[in-house]
Amino acid sequence: MDDLVTYRPGTRFGPREIRLASDDGQPEMYNLDLGIDPFNELRIIDHGDAAVKPGDAHASHRAIREAVDNAMDAGAVPIILGGDHSIAFPDISSVASRYEPGTVAVVQFDTHADTAKELNGLKWSHGTPFRHLVDEGIVAGERLIQIGLRGYWPFPEEFDWARSKGVRWHLMEEVFERGIDAVVDDVLTEVGDAEHLFLSVDIDVLDPAYAPGTGTPEPGGMTSRELLRAVRRLTVERGLVGMDLVEVSPPYDHAGITAMAAHRVVCEALSGLALNRRGVGPKPEHP
Ligand code: MN
Ligand code: MN
Repeated sequence: MDDLVTYRPGTRFGPREIRLASDDGQPEMYNLDLGIDPFNELRIIDHGDAAVKPGDAHASHRAIREAVDNAMDAGAVPIILGGDHSIAFPDISSVASRYEPGTVAVVQFDTHADTAKELNGLKWSHGTPFRHLVDEGIVAGERLIQIGLRGYWPFPEEFDWARSKGVRWHLMEEVFERGIDAVVDDVLTEVGDAEHLFLSVDIDVLDPAYAPGTGTPEPGGMTSRELLRAVRRLTVERGLVGMDLVEVSPPYDHAGITAMAAHRVVCEALSGLALNRRGVGPKPEHP
């Protein structure tokens, strides 16, 4: 769906292109850095598309919620390909509803905080899901950690709200100054004793050089390598109860590089989850 974007549309074509971005369509891959083939270790199933209804964002959100609920009923770890970032509201709501309140940490990779109360007078937008997830008590503010924020939005008001709720964030400038590994070290500490990790990856966290195919690009972002490494470390160390990968807009892509980056980020998360399930990764420090 892309009914709730504020600028360039096209994310309705994202899931299709991410699926096609596999080299040869074969579900077999060996992760050189982790020494693991996630397709050997995990049962990975394509659920198919949610029955979204173009032009009716609320019906689409209900369809996404239902699709993720079905995956949760099956005991699966849902990985949702978007779609604009508004879908984080139904998909994270579905996952969080299955666990004790406050036990799911959400790590959001994004240029934008997406914490506006409303945009252009609208409560539902791709710029508002994390505000509503926190304000409606679905995700605890202290359990939301954002990485890669930069550019010219949101405004001090949104950061004041975030501070008041205990939301933590790491600006892109910090990633540049300290390096992605140091930032991920801090994020792992901030995830703390949360039992469950949900990743919400907005592909616009990448620099437009690596991901031109997105609706609200912002120069000065992460490299693909930094994002892959961050996703790998988080999933190896903390596992994964769900993930969404959003804002891939193929009409603005070139040579499929944005869809390919998105595809590999998902592969990295699957590899990290597989290794975490083996129990090989470093153990979290919580009791
Ligand atoms: Mn964004
Ligand atoms: Mn976003």
